[in-house]
Parts: sequence; structure tokens; C-alpha cells
Amino acid sequence: MGYLLGIDIGTSGTKTLLVGPQGRIAASVTREYPAYAPKPAWSEQDPADWYTATVATIRAALKQARVRGDQVTGIGLSGQMHGSVFLDKAGRVLRRAILWNDQRTGAECDAITRAAGGRRKLIRLVANPALTGFTAPKILWVRTHEPRIYEKTARILLPKDYVRYRLTGEFATEVSDASGTLLLDVRRRRWSTKLLGLLDIDRGLLPAVYESREVSGRLTPEAAKVTGLAAGTPVVGGGGDQAAGAVGNGIVRRGAISATLGTSGVVFAHADAVETDPEGRVHTFCHAVEGKWHVMGVVLAAGGSLQWFRNTLCQDLVRKAKRAKVDPYELITDLAADAPPGADGLYFLPYLTGERTPHADPSARAAWVGLSNMHTRSHMARAVMEGATYAMRDCLEIIQGMGVPVREIRVAGGGARSPFWRSLQADIYKKPVWTVSSEEGPAYGVALLAGVGTGVWKSVPEACDATIKTVKATKPTRKHVNRYDALYPEYGQLYRSLKADFARIASLA
Ligand code: ADP
Repeated sequence: MGYLLGIDIGTSGTKTLLVGPQGRIAASVTREYPAYAPKPAWSEQDPADWYTATVATIRAALKQARVRGDQVTGIGLSGQMHGSVFLDKAGRVLRRAILWNDQRTGAECDAITRAAGGRRKLIRLVANPALTGFTAPKILWVRTHEPRIYEKTARILLPKDYVRYRLTGEFATEVSDASGTLLLDVRRRRWSTKLLGLLDIDRGLLPAVYESREVSGRLTPEAAKVTGLAAGTPVVGGGGDQAAGAVGNGIVRRGAISATLGTSGVVFAHADAVETDPEGRVHTFCHAVEGKWHVMGVVLAAGGSLQWFRNTLCQDLVRKAKRAKVDPYELITDLAADAPPGADGLYFLPYLTGERTPHADPSARAAWVGLSNMHTRSHMARAVMEGATYAMRDCLEIIQGMGVPVREIRVAGGGARSPFWRSLQADIYKKPVWTVSSEEGPAYGVALLAGVGTGVWKSVPEACDATIKTVKATKPTRKHVNRYDALYPEYGQLYRSLKADFARIASLA
């Protein structure tokens, strides 16, 4: 086996991993770039920055590992999902890309839902409801607000697929990322001609759709020259960052679930068949495993809630940690561990930036409920961690309710570093949680896909079995499980009680 490259075009930067035999990491290089907010809640990036960062990180990775370009036998691309790149006939970028976290398309989402004949019909067509972050509403926005640009548009690409175009000259995408455009017939794994027709979007604007492990193109002589790789090196489909990250965690079989506590929280489940939530509370997308799907719930401020708590109420601990040369989160989780399970009746709702799953409510806000004069900062810390974990359980419950089995939960993200948070997760999910050997996320996942596409492994599950191991299990404690089972329904009730109040408060702010 030669070397494989996994490239992840993230929002804060591009990360390139060089992976050697047996899946060993030979080099990892990241390069950052700016994002632009020309108006509040808008979010854009310059596609040229992604390509420049890709070239620079490939060169640096080869140099770091002292590997020759012609030793690289396959490339996989991953990236932030949903972003839209508009190209003219000559392949030139017409405007900055509009990103996943851009909120300008509320009216377009309503228009799409109407055109499809309602939310449920839309979910039947493309498996998901219209959300502002998705690609289709961005296309309609440009058509309405920048008609001159739309007229000149010959191709619309997702972020990683623009980099693919620069590397190979091919207009191509793959099923997992394409699922997040809202234009893919997720069940049949091809563009939805029906929805394209209803929205009057020309199919010719969209790229060819591949499976994630399929070779979608080969490096051009020009790209070979700038990267130092060999011309003709195959580039496989790759995957959207969530699907690719799941491959990197080994979530590639029925019953496998990952719970990732980063700034946001993501509960991701492999599914052998298309399972949709008729209410559209979780996303249903094609998986990067051929002929498989995944369902996913997103908590907007999971680890982000603890980060907010650290920044606003724990500056003394941040200073103390700095003096002691430890991670401030360790001191904060020690503080939380001083309070008992349930924090003596204190709850925290983690809706600091509204919520996606299960409430899809941008007006929802965070709150401590139940504060009394006996509560201390320990209780507040514990309640924050419990609240964020209940929100993850909400996602898990919806997924289980759809008939997707939950057999093995693998934990990832910054929150999985904490033994205390792992125990809390096991207690609240009522299942053991496992850490895994690979912590490199989407870039690692697409390097494995490149290996499958170039014949190193026969299938994605085989690649994962060969390279990713579970490391440590944290088991639930029966006493705590019972306690949290009694407390969790009240957590759900609090949002229902406060929902209308949140909306009123938002209208006053
Ligand atoms: P991001 O999602 O921004 O890429 P990470 O996956 O590193 O970031 O997750 C960051 C979050 O993980 C923090 O906001 C914090 O809530 C949590 N976290 C990080 N380290 C620890 C720790 N040692 N103990 C508890 N929580 C932690």
C-alpha cells in the first residue's frame, strides 16, 4: 500500500492528513482562512482560499513525512456541507460561496416548502425539510436577489467539490454531501428531477453524483505540478464532513451510533434503509457507505454551553488552570462533580443559540430553572453538563423511535476527553459509551474511502475494521440511570412550558 491523502475543507480551515500503511498517520497539516459576514447572520467564504489551503497543506504534509508525491495512491475529499459555489461557463467563481451557517434564506425555505406542496410532501421527495442552511434555498436566493449572477451561472458546486474541480477538472459530487442540498432524491441516490422541476432549477447546473468510494476523477498535470503529487492520481467521491467523520469513527454498520460533543453536539446513526422522521426533526442523508443511509440530530450548543459557562462565570478557574498548567475544563468538570446527579433540582436548558433538534426553534433560549439559595456554582456547572447531555438524549430518543437500533455508542469531540462527561453520557443514554483509537475525524474517514476506492480494502466496513479500534468503555451506574430517567421527562416539559415565552422574549429583543 502507498500513502492516502484525506483532505477536509472545514469552515475554520483545511486539514490534510497523510495516511500510511495500516492506517497510520504520517502527517497532519492545517491551514486557516477567513470567513466573511457582510451582513448580520450572513456567512461567506472565498473558494479560492480553499484551493490555496489545499495545495499548501498537501505540499506541507508530503514534506513533513518525507514522502514523495508519487507514493500517494489515492485522495479523498471532505468538507463543510451545504455551501454553494457559483461558477460561470469558463469555471470562474462568480461570487463568494454562501455557507452552511448563513441565515438569509428564510423566505426561500418557505417558497420551497410551498412549491413541494407542504413540509410532509417535501420530506417524502428529498427526506428532509427546508432549512436555511441547505443549498437549494441559497440557489433560489441568488436567483431572486442577484439575477445577473444567476444568468451567468453554468455550475453550482459544494465546497469540497469545487476543490475537486480544481484538482481534476471534473464537475462531480457524491451522495452524502449532495443529500444536504435538499435537491437529492435521498432514497434513490440521484438528483430529484421532480423537485428540480417544481423549483425550476436546471439539472445541467448540478454535477454528476457518485458513491463516496468511487473514483470521480484524476489529478490534472497542472494540479500535479502545484501540489507535488503525480498526475493521474485518483480522487474518490469522499463525503460531507458528518458522513466522513462517521467513517473516521467506524460508524458504518447497523446499530452503531456516535455522540460527538464539540461546540455543537451531533448524534449520528448508521441506517441500512431510508428512515425519515415525518416531522423532520433529524436529518436523513445518504451515508458514505454504498447503499446505506444515516440519520443525524444536531444540538446547536452542546459543548458550546460549557464553553459559554467557562467564559462568563469561570474566569477565576481559567486563570488558576493557567497557573497550574492544566485544562480549565478539568477544573470545571471537577466543580460539576461536586454536585449530586440532578444538581439538587436545578435544570439547564442549553438553547443559547436557539435549537435545531428536536425543536427547530431559532427563538428558543437557554435558562437555569429551579435555582434556590442552596445552589452553588457547582450545581450550575453540573446542570449545564446535564442539560447538554439531555439534549443529546433527545436526539437519541428520536432516532430510536424511528426504529434505528442503538447497540454501540462511540463518543467523540472535546467532551469525550472528560471521564466525567463520559460517565454522565453513559448514565443519561443508559448505555456504555466507547472511545475510539482515531481522533482525526472527517479527513481520516475520506483517506479510508480513498483506500477503498483504490483497492486497498474491499469495503468501507473492512477499512474501518482494519484501522479503527474501540479503546475504552464507560459503563452506566444503575443508581444514576434511575435518577436521570426520573428527571429527564421534566427537562422536556420545561421547553414546552417556556416555548411561547421564548418567542415573546425574542420579539422584544
Ligand atoms: P469544535 O467542535 O469547536 O471543533 P471540540 O470538538 O474540541 O471543538 O470541542 C470543544 C468542546 O468540548 C468545548 O466547548 C467543551 O465543551 C468540550 N471540552 C473540551 N475539552 C474538555 C474537557 N477536558 N472536559 C470537558 N469538556 C471538554
